[in-house]
Amino acid sequence: MSDLTPKLRGPFAILSASDFREPTMTDTALSYRDIELAAGLIQGAAHRTPVLTSSTANALSGGTLFFKCENYQRMGAFKFRGAYNAIAKFDGAQRAAGVLTFSSGNHAQAIALSAKLAGIKSTIIMPSDAPALKVKATREYGGEVITYDRYTEDREAIGRRLSQERGMTLIPPYDHPDVIAGQGTAAKELFEEVGELDVLLVCLGGGGLLAGCALAARALSPSCKVIGVEPEAGNDGQQSLRKGEIVHIAVPKTIADGAMVTHIGEHNFEVIRRHVDDIVTVTDAQLAQTMAFFAERMKMVVEPTGCLGAAAALHGVVDVKGKRVGIVISGGNVDLSRFAELVTAA
Ligand SMILES: *Cc1c(COP(=O)(O)O)cnc(C)c1O
Repeated sequence: MSDLTPKLRGPFAILSASDFREPTMTDTALSYRDIELAAGLIQGAAHRTPVLTSSTANALSGGTLFFKCENYQRMGAFKFRGAYNAIAKFDGAQRAAGVLTFSSGNHAQAIALSAKLAGIKSTIIMPSDAPALKVKATREYGGEVITYDRYTEDREAIGRRLSQERGMTLIPPYDHPDVIAGQGTAAKELFEEVGELDVLLVCLGGGGLLAGCALAARALSPSCKVIGVEPEAGNDGQQSLRKGEIVHIAVPKTIADGAMVTHIGEHNFEVIRRHVDDIVTVTDAQLAQTMAFFAERMKMVVEPTGCLGAAAALHGVVDVKGKRVGIVISGGNVDLSRFAELVTAA
């Protein structure tokens, strides 16, 4: 998906054909420099989240595991990094018109909170059957919520129309260079704290987190193997990496609601195909068991999608024996009743 909305340069900007052209690789090619710039922009706004270890996790896996805990990030997930970075780069005209996005999950809250901190308006397009709690949290951060019927309406078309009518800048959940650069700051902080690693395991949905973290790994720990982990029911990323092109699938049925995407993004795939070594999958049962492990042993609430990377290490999907392994825990937003249900059944 690409943003076809012309960038307004000021009230009297004259639009030329190039304003409507699809971005080309030369103007969007991302590098580690973009992650350094993002780190500067989010500093003071985003938390520098803790890196935790667990001797039980090490004993179970046979490796030395370092958990980067983005469940302790603002609004409860790494998505704050990318959203805040994207908004921090707005010019005056963009700030005046505000930001727009479509998301039923953590990106909605990330955009609403970042917009509030930046003092600009935000509009979030959410499915009418989105969990009431998420709609409430987004409104509490000051976001205007517009609902649509996910079975009959196309959220991207609504997004494009609203962004044209209102002049608001559309910041999608993953397929955007500034979002990718922001997400990469999580791995940058991890490498800065623990040094070089043998393996980095990253949760994969649309590929914002994985692409950003891969760029950071290549710069800060060049020989580190970067592995994306997605739910078994939705292995479009794995298929895409193997095929060398983006593969589309039906909406996967999985408890990992943050990874229920049908395809990875274009900007994301461009980075992933060059810098990611492998993509593996884990089952919902392995995710639920990992949630229970985090709760029982590390006293942490981690949402199902946040368990993807850890599940691959703890269940031997990736061989981590004798290795130094970084694991990004991506978020901790899960309803208490849902949490109780999943860990009890695990
Ligand atoms: C969005 C999200 C993901 C997936 O991130 P992508 O950048 O789309 O790959 C993983 N975990 C959590 C908690 C998320 O909110």
